[in-house]
Amino acid sequence: MEVLKMANSRVSLLRHSFNSFLPPSIFSPSILPTRRFIVSASISSKEPLVDSISSSSSSKEAAIPYGDSVKPNDDRWKPMCLYYTQEKCTLMEDSTHLQKFNHSFSLKHALDAGGYKNKHSEHLDFFLVLDLEGKVEILEFPVLMIDAKTMDVVAFFHRFVRPSEMSEERINQYIEGKYGKLGVDRVWHDTAIPFKEVIVQFEEWMTKHSLFNGELGGPLNRAAFWELGYKDKIPQQCQVAKMKLPSYFMEWINLKDIYLNFYKRRAAGMRTMMNELNIPMLGSHHLGIDDTKNIARVLQHMLVDGAVLKITARRDPRSPQSVEFLFENRIK
Ligand SMILES: [Zn+2]
Repeated sequence: MEVLKMANSRVSLLRHSFNSFLPPSIFSPSILPTRRFIVSASISSKEPLVDSISSSSSSKEAAIPYGDSVKPNDDRWKPMCLYYTQEKCTLMEDSTHLQKFNHSFSLKHALDAGGYKNKHSEHLDFFLVLDLEGKVEILEFPVLMIDAKTMDVVAFFHRFVRPSEMSEERINQYIEGKYGKLGVDRVWHDTAIPFKEVIVQFEEWMTKHSLFNGELGGPLNRAAFWELGYKDKIPQQCQVAKMKLPSYFMEWINLKDIYLNFYKRRAAGMRTMMNELNIPMLGSHHLGIDDTKNIARVLQHMLVDGAVLKITARRDPRSPQSVEFLFENRIK
């Protein structure tokens, strides 16, 4: 109950301050955050509630109750700027905006990488943490590129995705039901593009980071997707969007299978893993870009613990619908 009160008071303060600085041409009242801030896990945790490196806090922010573990002037979690994540933020010079929204993907406060030697990662230099959102069609496509040695985020790709085969009315209901609850439906409508275009831009991004060569095709270059089970989602979306399944989606690392084989425990989802590993969940669960950051924290934790990260599943290039699972014990 106490936690709920704290979360609510934080939301109302943020809402108040958002109103005062957002230019109406870009943001409408419907974007104002009704996001539910998940702070309960952090308050009881020994880990600080910090997710970004902002240099100062206003006195209004300092008045927000946060629990004893966080001092008033500490850096702390704040919502990602979802225009920035999609390379569309026009307020990068606006200090008020920068104070309110996170424009950094760093996972700085996470585990100390000192003891970690990356002995076990199958010669992978990068992990691409992927967390697709959307039950009927994909609505959000967030990817964090994690350096296997430093374990921090070195690049990101994030797009909201407009369904290909739905009426406007159905899309509006779908978005209201999913992102309306998080207060980000307006930014979704402002920015979402069709899956086909997302993939074109994603391939440009991967090429820029030397992760993929479009002319050669084939798998990723010294990198692997790290995800929670997109076995059928991407092929289905490709079918809906009438496009071929890209070659880099032919193999991946399923986090749940690695978790099961390493810790000898079944975890049905991200929340369970985070609870079991005592990692605070930050941001809005089921906002893909926040979930990728949380999944990246699980990845860091497992790397430090010494988990062996191997490809867990591979498609047959001649018949992509058949998947070979490389671990005997796996989450089905
Ligand atoms: Zn911004």
